[in-house]
Amino acid sequence: MDWHYIQPVDIHFGNGMLACLPEQIQKIGGRRGILVTSSSFIENGLVKRLLDENPKTICTVYSGVSPNTDITECDDCSAMIRKEQCDFVIALGGGSVIDCAKAAAAFCLDTLPTSAYFQGKVSLPIRKLPLIAIPTTAGTGSEVTRVTVLMDHAQGIKAPLKAPVFYPTIAIVDPELTYTLPKYITACTGMDALCHAIEAYWNTNHHPISDAFAFHAANLAVRYLEQACFEPESAIAREKMAEASLTAGMAFTLTGTTSVHACSYPLGAMLDMPHGEACGLTIDRFMKINAQSDTDGRLKRLARAMGYSDVEAVADAITELKFRIGLKNDLTHLNLTDGQIEQLVQGSQHPNLKNNPVPITEDTLRSVYRSMVV
Ligand code: NAD
Repeated sequence: MDWHYIQPVDIHFGNGMLACLPEQIQKIGGRRGILVTSSSFIENGLVKRLLDENPKTICTVYSGVSPNTDITECDDCSAMIRKEQCDFVIALGGGSVIDCAKAAAAFCLDTLPTSAYFQGKVSLPIRKLPLIAIPTTAGTGSEVTRVTVLMDHAQGIKAPLKAPVFYPTIAIVDPELTYTLPKYITACTGMDALCHAIEAYWNTNHHPISDAFAFHAANLAVRYLEQACFEPESAIAREKMAEASLTAGMAFTLTGTTSVHACSYPLGAMLDMPHGEACGLTIDRFMKINAQSDTDGRLKRLARAMGYSDVEAVADAITELKFRIGLKNDLTHLNLTDGQIEQLVQGSQHPNLKNNPVPITEDTLRSVYRSMVV
């Protein structure tokens, strides 16, 4: 088995770790920084705190990032970076903010619009401004991945861009920043982390290092997600979910994702579902499909390590978990037409289907979507 391992992000993890930001800015020699965030962090005072603690080095704020970052937001952020002549970028927020900042930190060094990269018209850059990523959700792992997921709302397309340039320079992971997450967002984002872990594990590209991270993350997420939802200030649950998200990110950035994420893109783009909830819709369904070809017993070993007798039992436990934490398990409420189901099927034809351990045909996708509407 040949494999390659790289994790270039300088990671700082722990409660209260946000306080090390000035030291990290100094480490990268930052002089004129832009803080990329969303408006809720202005409202809750966190932006003011960072500006007060870094008065000389953060010179401007871009707060226009919305969930499912649009490519035009990346353009606006890049333009601000160029106008203010910033020499480093800080991302404070969930995956949407970090992904916008990743794209802007790379694309600002040229004047091409984000659409040119998103549509694959030009190759992705290899240089970027130094980026410090500070996640405020526990789910995407974007702070340690070489992925940015962007959306072109005008065309209704959501897709990931992958390249080493999108690894942040530094990640500051402070679980205390997640205490303010409402229950539903905790549930959605935590489900995303659980899916990353499981998809990295059953991935055709898996290797010993990705397996180790994936195993660790899957166990933590299945054990602590419910507690984080119902006890938002539980230090242990929040810390363990932040750890699950980080290690799941370290796993899937090595392997890629699979069928679950392939389906999440049209579900997010067409139905405007939060990313983690979209992933949760299919994880248990694909787990049962993949279990049918678990000839070497890999999935069974994961199931046992997670405390279940077999893979079916884990899939059923995830279905029950979804109900308990308030995530959807079907699409019956939308009364989808046959045409819309077909659009979901076609929209799921993403290259990461090839990473799934069993071949996923159009008919498989059709039956997965049909199982959600009856
Ligand atoms: P998000 O960033 O879209 O945030 C969801 C909501 O939570 C927003 O309204 C945000 O303002 C709010 N929020 C964030 N932190 C908060 C806090 N501490 N307290 C209260 N509210 C808070 O959600 P996300 O799940 O973190 O990110 C999803 C995006 O990341 C999707 O576009 C997804 O496709 C992408 N993604 C990227 C990667 C990657 O490796 N780059 C991996 C998985 C997913």
